[in-house]
Formats: sequence, C-alpha cells, structure tokens
Amino acid sequence: GMPDSQPDAKAAATPSSDRRGGRLVVLTGPTAVGKGTVEARLRADHPEVWVSVSATTRAPRPGERDGVNYWFMTDEEFLRRERDGLFLETAVVHGLAHYGTPLEPVLEHMRRGIPTILEIDLQGARRVKEKALALGLQVVYVFLAPPSFDDLATRLRKRGTETQDQMARRLETARVELAAESEFDVTIVNDDVSRAADALWSVIAQEYGLDRQD
Ligand code: 5GP
Repeated sequence: GMPDSQPDAKAAATPSSDRRGGRLVVLTGPTAVGKGTVEARLRADHPEVWVSVSATTRAPRPGERDGVNYWFMTDEEFLRRERDGLFLETAVVHGLAHYGTPLEPVLEHMRRGIPTILEIDLQGARRVKEKALALGLQVVYVFLAPPSFDDLATRLRKRGTETQDQMARRLETARVELAAESEFDVTIVNDDVSRAADALWSVIAQEYGLDRQD
C-alpha cells in the first residue's frame, strides 16, 4: 500500500538556494480538458519526469493498478491519512470521491532534484498555493486550457452519459473553471496532445536546466 511516513518538515524548509532542482510543476485545468492525456504523453516521452501518484477513494477502472495509477483506498483510510497530515492537498472531485497528493514522496523527489509534476484538479491547485510557502515549496502553476469553450463543451458531451440537467450543471462548472486561468503562471492550450505535452516539457526543461531537444 501507500507509504505513510511523516513528512520531514526540516528538510522541506530547505531554502531555495540549497535546492538542486527547479520548482514543483502543478498541472491543472478545467474538468475534461485532457490533463490526464497530456500527462500520459509527457510521461511516455520523458520517463525522467516523476509524476506524483495520488490517493483516491474511487474504485479502480479496468487496467488501473494500485501504486501506479493511484493509491486506491477506503474513505476511512483516506480520512485517517488526511488527519495525520500526510497529504500536500486534498479535494473532493465531482462531489464523489476524495483525491489527495501524498506529501512525503513529493518532498523526497524534489530533494533529489528529480523533475516532479502533480496533475490535479483546480481546487487542489489552490490548496497547494495556500500551503506552499509554509512548506518552503517553490511551485510553477500550469493551466491547461481548451482551444475554446465550445471545444470543452464538446468534450464534456462526449464523456457524458448524463441527463440534460447534469450536463447543464457540468457546462456551468466548466465556464467557472475556465475563468480561473488568470490565477496560474503559465497557460498551455490543449489544441493537440503532442504539442501540449511538448509545451509542458519546455516548462520542466526550463525549470531543471534540461536539454529541450531530446
Ligand atoms: P479521475 O478519477 O478521472 O482519474 O480524475 C478525476 C479528477 O481528479 C481529474 O481532474 C484529476 O486531475 C483529479 N485528481 C487526480 N488526482 C488528484 C489529487 O491528488 N488531488 C486533486 N485535487 N485532484 C486530483
């Protein structure tokens, strides 16, 4: 299962001048914009990037593996870990399941200078913003945007087995989420998965002084 060591607060507070790598990269964006797909492409092209494995209380989908796609757990276990301060951030997504980023693995990879990325929802990104300073974490916030609102609406409809009422609510949420773009440092438009993954890699390569050509 998921490791449950307490975060090392002293090491986390290492001043930026002592850090070996760049800032933590937080990838977020509206529901259904394709964060997971872009992250998967980045991971395939650049295995040297470490993508945080989140904890979740939702059921595994076919093919998903514990410790690879997520740490799957019960509500009880999740809430216990949350109480124990083991998460960098948590959120309830779509009013259904809990999701959270285990803190210690993020700090550990950052300490080792390994390019580290979180792919999380908007609420979670805001939680990271609230906590980063106290943790001594330097973060670059990347917003993945659809080419247009209509494009996002089409994606939502394709996903949807929802009723008209549910779809209307989803679209309203999407409109609100799109307005969050200005809160973030970098916007990448997901007009094409390869292009968006390349743009994300450029952000990471710049942070970590890595070769952009490979
Ligand atoms: P899914 O259940 O489809 O894998 O993910 C649903 C949503 O949860 C996605 O928007 C994804 O970005 C978000 N998510 C995944 N892991 C985390 C996490 O650790 N924290 C937060 N806040 N959101 C997450």
